[in-house]
Amino acid sequence: MAQTMLESFVGAFGLRSNGSMAVDLVAGCPVSLNFGKRNVTVKTAMEKEQFEAVEDALNASLASSGIGKAIFDKGFVQFVLNRLDKAVEEYSALRGAIQTYIAPASSQLPCPACGMGSCDIAAFHDFSEDSLSSRNEFVRTHASCHAKIVEQSRTRISSGEGNYPLGILGAILGAVLVLAVSLLIVMLADTVFAILFAAVPFAAGMGYRLFKGPYGLKGILTIAVISILAFAGYIYIECSHFIAAYLETSIFYVMSQFEAVVQAAFSPEYLAEDWFQIISFVVGLVLSIIVNPASAKLALNDIQGFESMVLPLGNQELPQIIEQ
Ligand SMILES: [Zn+2]
Repeated sequence: MAQTMLESFVGAFGLRSNGSMAVDLVAGCPVSLNFGKRNVTVKTAMEKEQFEAVEDALNASLASSGIGKAIFDKGFVQFVLNRLDKAVEEYSALRGAIQTYIAPASSQLPCPACGMGSCDIAAFHDFSEDSLSSRNEFVRTHASCHAKIVEQSRTRISSGEGNYPLGILGAILGAVLVLAVSLLIVMLADTVFAILFAAVPFAAGMGYRLFKGPYGLKGILTIAVISILAFAGYIYIECSHFIAAYLETSIFYVMSQFEAVVQAAFSPEYLAEDWFQIISFVVGLVLSIIVNPASAKLALNDIQGFESMVLPLGNQELPQIIEQ
């Protein structure tokens, strides 16, 4: 569904696409389109004051075509097209609104790399330096600034630069966070959500990347080892919890009896009781190794995907000059 929607948009508007998302230029205003299962999200950069100045008029013009109100977040205006059967028509109307209300302000936006104006291309810029999560947004920039940044990213990825100790910390935090939630559910509700265990290696991988752990084989090995250790730690605490409940004593007292708890927790009988969690965890581990958040090759492919959507601004931004 998402694929055919993307194709119909590319066909209808001549968009540039990397196969999973698409980009557009509306009167020189860079627009990115994300195709979800149930909606299409359209996003473009704008400053908050600029947005507030046109917000009411913009929303009023969208109302007649049935498009929901514009959402402003962190320097970007976002539109969600929820009716997939009408999405192409809605985007056509939205382009008109973008041209009228957003494109004039958009042309004044500076390059995020150097802060100067007169941008000459629209390209994906990595804003993850300003925030913790990875955030690539389609904005106006300079071809020279962009080339420099992309080259730096490529070098950083392939040379395995990064912060390994922080990456380890991030992986531990990610795994522990998910397991702590699982443990709380076991302790308070006496229920197990097996799916959570599959999420452990993914959370570890996200934490590792979030904290800028280096790409490469060392990365995925670290994520896998930390996930396994954290899962073993979880089994240890979970078993301590059950022993403590059975003996009606403190869990901390039980946990301090290291050898006895290890023997009980990692006995075939106890592990057999936890088979569902173990299978879920192993499936998650295998999937996360396949997906490999620390893969240099995949990270370079991502950059390549974004590079295939660079658009020259050309003379689209020069109407004022032509008028002179
Ligand atoms: Zn620049």
